[in-house]
Amino acid sequence: PVVVGIETSCDETGIGIVSGTTLLAHQVASSMDEHVAFGGVIPEIAARAHVTEFLPVLDTALDEAELTIDDVDAIAVTAGPGLAGALMVGVAGAKALAVATGKPLYGINHLIAHIGVGYLDAAGADLHNVNQLGALLVSGGHTEMLKINSLTSDVELLGSTIDDAAGEAYDKVARLIGAGYPGGPVIDKMARQGDPSAFTFPRGLSAPKNMGTEKTPGKDRYSWSFSGLKTAVSRAVEQFELRDMPVPANDIAAAFQEAVADVITKKAVLAATEQGIDHILLGGGVAANSRLRELLTERTTAAGIGLTIPPINLCTDNGAMVAALGAQLVSDGVTPSDLNFSADPTQHVSLISV
Ligand code: ATP
Ligand code: MG
Ligand code: FE
Repeated sequence: PVVVGIETSCDETGIGIVSGTTLLAHQVASSMDEHVAFGGVIPEIAARAHVTEFLPVLDTALDEAELTIDDVDAIAVTAGPGLAGALMVGVAGAKALAVATGKPLYGINHLIAHIGVGYLDAAGADLHNVNQLGALLVSGGHTEMLKINSLTSDVELLGSTIDDAAGEAYDKVARLIGAGYPGGPVIDKMARQGDPSAFTFPRGLSAPKNMGTEKTPGKDRYSWSFSGLKTAVSRAVEQFELRDMPVPANDIAAAFQEAVADVITKKAVLAATEQGIDHILLGGGVAANSRLRELLTERTTAAGIGLTIPPINLCTDNGAMVAALGAQLVSDGVTPSDLNFSADPTQHVSLISV
């Protein structure tokens, strides 16, 4: 099926078009530049930008695919989770499009779309020989390990962060060391100039009491926590400031990045091994992180687990991932959404489509 996917959950207006697992168009407009001065995404600015960008981005995507809206079999839109006002622009626009064209509409989960993108040929995966797929989702708002029994009907949450998401920790630590916003790409770059062993930062929830054993697992065996790490970085910075010494920002960035990548990959590979997962799909914007990619590759290889990491421009927010999940929903015969659905800012990962 040919599906157009619409993404407006945060600061990207993304529209993608797929035919089955073939990517036909991938267009993204971002309002990031307008948020930089504030050090974070301002919801109302993001929502207004979606209103302006929606139709131009849609037109460009249709041009890229060399299609008209009449050639499309279905429309998919992110229903949640995300910023309420931003989501509502996409949902309202998608409904208008569905009513005007008579095409079926699917309101879908943004987190599952981050995984669904891995099924595209453009993601370079071979998921056909996989017995049990797992997904490690590391994004601005989420850090979760999932067991994908069926992408369109049965996703099981194995573990998640109990406080900050990994991307959030990157943004907060970037502020602490004066690296600017958005934090992820900046810290990634600084870390390459620093020494990761200059500091040892905590790996949250890794103590024996949290982990338990495989037979009697602790309740946080597959959970993460990044708030203690953020506090540890803050203390380290203070130590230098109190003595009027220059803060070794590159070393702190490197040690912080090492702690994040270490604890994420260790627990993900442990969960996969213990839960019979033989292939991991990495998803979400933090999948762009160089150390996370490197360490996950190393550790899955050592454990005999397959790994798919889609190209970076498919990992950060976009419409192609929404279209990819939409196409799977159509193929699997899932009923389209009732047009009365609303945006759901806190939509749980187990609710795949509304
Ligand atoms: P969610 O998907 O949970 O709703 P989101 O859509 O805002 O959140 P994404 O677009 O998936 O998040 O990812 C954005 C996050 O990725 C930001 O926090 C950003 O700092 C982080 N990020 C981007 N590039 C890198 C990188 N190279 N290293 C680490 N983090 C990165
Ligand atoms: Mg974004
Ligand atoms: Fe996202």
